[in-house]
Amino acid sequence: MVRIGFEIHVQLKTDSKLFCSCSTRFLDAEPNTNVCPVCTAQPGSKPEGINEEVLRKAVQVALALNCKIKTEPLRFLRKHYFYPDLPNNYQRTSEPFAVEGELNGVRIREIHIEEDPGRYELRDGTVDYNRAGVPLIEIVTEPDMHSVEEAREFLKHLRAVLDYLDVILYPQIGFRVDANVSIEGGERVEIKNINTIHGVVKALRYEISRHKRMLQMGKEIKRETRHWDEVRGVTVTLREKETAEDYRYMVDPDIPPYHIDPALIEELRAKMPELPFQKKERLMEQYGIDESTAWTLVLDKELGNLFEALAKSVGAKNAASFCTNLRGELNYRGIYLSEVPRRERLEKLAKLYFSGQITKPVYIEYMRKILDDPSFEPQAQEQLSDDEIREIARQIIEGNAAAVSDYKRGEKKAINYLVGQIVARTKGRADPKRAIQILREELERA
Ligand SMILES: [Zn+2]
Repeated sequence: MVRIGFEIHVQLKTDSKLFCSCSTRFLDAEPNTNVCPVCTAQPGSKPEGINEEVLRKAVQVALALNCKIKTEPLRFLRKHYFYPDLPNNYQRTSEPFAVEGELNGVRIREIHIEEDPGRYELRDGTVDYNRAGVPLIEIVTEPDMHSVEEAREFLKHLRAVLDYLDVILYPQIGFRVDANVSIEGGERVEIKNINTIHGVVKALRYEISRHKRMLQMGKEIKRETRHWDEVRGVTVTLREKETAEDYRYMVDPDIPPYHIDPALIEELRAKMPELPFQKKERLMEQYGIDESTAWTLVLDKELGNLFEALAKSVGAKNAASFCTNLRGELNYRGIYLSEVPRRERLEKLAKLYFSGQITKPVYIEYMRKILDDPSFEPQAQEQLSDDEIREIARQIIEGNAAAVSDYKRGEKKAINYLVGQIVARTKGRADPKRAIQILREELERA
């Protein structure tokens, strides 16, 4: 039996860092500009106390994951290790503030708050401390997933919950995942720092088949930490598993114990936005769409929003079909709808198609162009006139004697083949309904 669990690090969307008022924007700022004596650990500097905004976001996530939230005083610990990205030589990490949650049938063991280290560039040895002190939460699951598919479904659902709560600092980065995996007869192996859900899926597949091969060969699977090499598509040994003692945890005397006010929990519970599971139920009820379609729509927040906007203009059935096609194209590109610029073009496309101003092949072609080319603008295509269609119909009739005689003998389905020829010849600029009518007329004369 396979057992998979996760530790998921989410950088929280707050204006300022965990223990100082520096901006959290580390990606779109010049290196080492969003820094101060606190987040660079200058001698004599003291942290300013915990950022309330971090607590609010963290509690929102805990509530959405159905956790019990602790209201007793909690402490920050120092986790020691030595690396150039860590100015203090320790990382501050809180005792768990939330425990015993559940999502998608997977138990959430605990959630705690941490500060992110800076960014160390191995190639040239430079360090950027803009990220040092950015608030993180770490969500730890029990090893409750028993297949790569279950693991993927869990991560997709979690990602959707975080998007609905709008708590991810940089949605294009998403979250970082440490995956742990074991199979019957072997020790637990941890794979560190995987950046995408797709990467997690590939890493787990690789690791599970490696474990099976090792056991078949009678080799022992050691407890260790491995690194996922995205480029080569393999995991490699990073280090043998360290123990908690290696980090010399101690209570941070600079940070007074904090506690979460029960009134804050109730306030946030009352303000909780609609979450993916609830939205799925509502879409099924309100628009009469089936469960699997509804689930596909809600797992991408913007796709669910687009569906509801389109349901108003083109009807729920058309909107569902449009969004299902779109989901396929987005999956193929490995992106969320929020990453597509000028999304109003998609609404325009749906209106053009469902009002009959463009044909199906053109609709699919335009959808791909919108996703791949930010400057592309969908337009109603120039439709061929009846006379132009008639001219092409005559040519097709001349060139397909066999299909024509089938039709004349009463094989009415032969007309579909001939219409297909017209659509292909005109590259979709002939309305298929008009083409059928004109073809029938011409076949009567032929
Ligand atoms: Zn700072």
